[in-house]
Amino acid sequence: MWRFPAGSGGFARYVVRRTLIPDLLLDAHGAKCGVGVTIEDGRISKVGPAAEGERLTGKALAPGFVNDHSHAFQRGLRGAVERIEPSRPHDDFWSWRERMYALADGLTPDTVREASRLCYEEMLSAGYTSVTEFHYVHHRPDGTAYEDPNALGKAAVLAAEDAGIRLLLLPVAYAQGGLPRFRDVSAQSFLRRVDDLREWSEGRSLVDVGVAAHSIRAVPRGWLEEIGEYGRRHDLPVHIHADEQLREIEECREEHGMRPVELLAETGFLSSNTTLIHATHADERELNLLAENGASVCACPTTEGNLGDGFLPAGAILERGIPLSVGSDSHVRVDPFEELREIETNARRLSRRRNVLLTRNETSPTPYLLRAGWGREGLKAGGPADLIELDLSHPSLVGVETGHLPSALVFGVGSGVVTGTWIAGERTFD
Ligand SMILES: [Zn+2]
Repeated sequence: MWRFPAGSGGFARYVVRRTLIPDLLLDAHGAKCGVGVTIEDGRISKVGPAAEGERLTGKALAPGFVNDHSHAFQRGLRGAVERIEPSRPHDDFWSWRERMYALADGLTPDTVREASRLCYEEMLSAGYTSVTEFHYVHHRPDGTAYEDPNALGKAAVLAAEDAGIRLLLLPVAYAQGGLPRFRDVSAQSFLRRVDDLREWSEGRSLVDVGVAAHSIRAVPRGWLEEIGEYGRRHDLPVHIHADEQLREIEECREEHGMRPVELLAETGFLSSNTTLIHATHADERELNLLAENGASVCACPTTEGNLGDGFLPAGAILERGIPLSVGSDSHVRVDPFEELREIETNARRLSRRRNVLLTRNETSPTPYLLRAGWGREGLKAGGPADLIELDLSHPSLVGVETGHLPSALVFGVGSGVVTGTWIAGERTFD
């Protein structure tokens, strides 16, 4: 789950003061007119009546979307893997993974930077203002370290800075399987690299560093213990892929005698810092463990659909109060509106009902879904000045009543309605 940097440290280089006055200001529940957003030092200092400022005629402002799970380089597969290879007539997640490995094998620091920049620029154009990069390609193709062992992670950071998007970089531990260039020799040597990366990124105003383990299949039990402990000790976001495919659950049961989330709980990996990516096939007990430990879930519906993973147990996640975020993962599609829509639409298909994902006292799934997408309720004083501008004259919004706009975003538009983004109060895309 995304946590915006606390205090003013992360925003120190922004000293401008400006007030933006849109036609409408949107939050998870509705839209207001006659309201300005004043920004100082990269944060929102005031939301309220404003007479003077930059008028955004015909536009609405809303919080920027958080993309909580990304493998930027995988955007290179877009359109290239939507047909059967004659040698593999049964195409599924595992055969897709072979093609993804072939792409990963050819990456260099320069191509990581370039591919990531393209991906991040597309995210900004679609309304994402922050991204969590789950970064697991670390070394040369033969597995030896680059002269700078964090060369590829730093390339992702530089790409985010080139594009102007806020980044949470997660160096990802990989011990076994995959390609040699994914792997580190020990949890200690991996965590030393994380230490170095955290130190290097200090003072980079839009960048934070957390930590991750790739999956249960990629790391042994001892690594989960060490990485979980490291995350808690330094109070870092800690992510892991889990329960995406039935086969990985079977393998976990065979090797460890329990299901993935049970193993995460037993090794101390689960805490309120932890985000489980996918949780597609999490059972009741696993979901209870997530709730008891205060852990979050990140859903990636367009990727999960494209890979044939299955459906998020969205109703059970909501019932338990497990915090939810979304990510575009493989970037088969980069559109936050579509990710949110898929969560509710899949819940409707499965239940054969409408307006399914309702929190207590709410009669529409819209506020729940927008909070999941934005990581917050709306634009408030003290919050980060990460905003998106929406074109109220876009064909998909023309004629929509003001009070219906939040739901129109979730159910009736694509990313084409986004005409600008501000990160820490600076316009980075228009
Ligand atoms: Zn992923």
